[in-house]
Amino acid sequence: LSGREGVLSFLKENDGFLISTHVNPDGDALGSAIALQLALNELGKRSTVFVSGGVPAIYSFLPRTEIVIDRVDQDEASDLLLILLDCNSPARASLEGLAFARSAVIDHHETESDFGDARWVDPRVPATGMMVLEAIKALGVKISKEMAVNLYTAIAVDTGTFRYSNTNADTFRAAAELLDAGAEPGMISDSLYNTWNRNRFSLLCMNLSTIETRGAVSLSVVSDEMFKNSSTGHPDTESFVNYPLLMSDILVSACFRETGKDAWKVSLRSKGELNMAKVAERFGGGGHKNAAGYSFNGDLDTARQALLKSLGDLFNL
Ligand code: 5GP
Ligand code: MN
Repeated sequence: LSGREGVLSFLKENDGFLISTHVNPDGDALGSAIALQLALNELGKRSTVFVSGGVPAIYSFLPRTEIVIDRVDQDEASDLLLILLDCNSPARASLEGLAFARSAVIDHHETESDFGDARWVDPRVPATGMMVLEAIKALGVKISKEMAVNLYTAIAVDTGTFRYSNTNADTFRAAAELLDAGAEPGMISDSLYNTWNRNRFSLLCMNLSTIETRGAVSLSVVSDEMFKNSSTGHPDTESFVNYPLLMSDILVSACFRETGKDAWKVSLRSKGELNMAKVAERFGGGGHKNAAGYSFNGDLDTARQALLKSLGDLFNL
């Protein structure tokens, strides 16, 4: 069995899972992982959620984040069944060194590896949370309020709260079910978008002041110095890359975050058909059509030139 049915049998027939998701987890990653753990728990199955680096403070509002662990060793892994959510290779979850008994993948990224004994990967689905909702229902588990808040957050984050072009009728049907199960959109939106501390806001101001545009492309930076001066960290930069897209003639936005000496994490966003996953793949990263990312080693100028060249090659931008 492969695809959806393969993953559902994997969940039904086994016990003793490690659920994991990508590093720098977003709401889709965390919400999907926690909701699936709660559902497996309802079925009397043992499972743990592992997230490399733990839960970023900006997501501490999600119900049951306390179940997330940030360490796992080979002794434990050998007996565990790995479920990768919202990513499809162990490296993305910082699990590349470990060997698990068996593994399954539920993901919606365009960039695929062939990892996993059971793989359900569908880039047409806007959020992994929608696939997890479907899986939980197929397992016969009733959606609790805690699951609903996690899954609504997952879907909200990956659809720009129902604004991106990936939003479809299924998205609204899923959201409606989650509202019926107790998710409150106003409260979740407030938790997601109106809870910044002053430091995060000053980091955004610093980032916005670095914006440079080249035709339809916007480039911006968050340097290590900015993080230090504002006492902030990488999770605080979530959504910064979206702001330049407010300008009607900007079609691609790139934000370069300094992660070490000559080391950068690059976030890409686009409008319309410009496929950022294709750009990120050239640099060993991946993602979706309108949102992708990669890591780059080199100085900032080299990083920017390399990106502009790729955008020129691929899209004549
Ligand atoms: P963000 O820019 O928010 O970090 O990531 C945007 C999208 O690209 C997310 O779906 C994320 O999973 C994906 N992504 C970001 N960085 C990487 C990377 O280094 N490798 C891969 N495969 N995907 C990435
Ligand atoms: Mn996702």
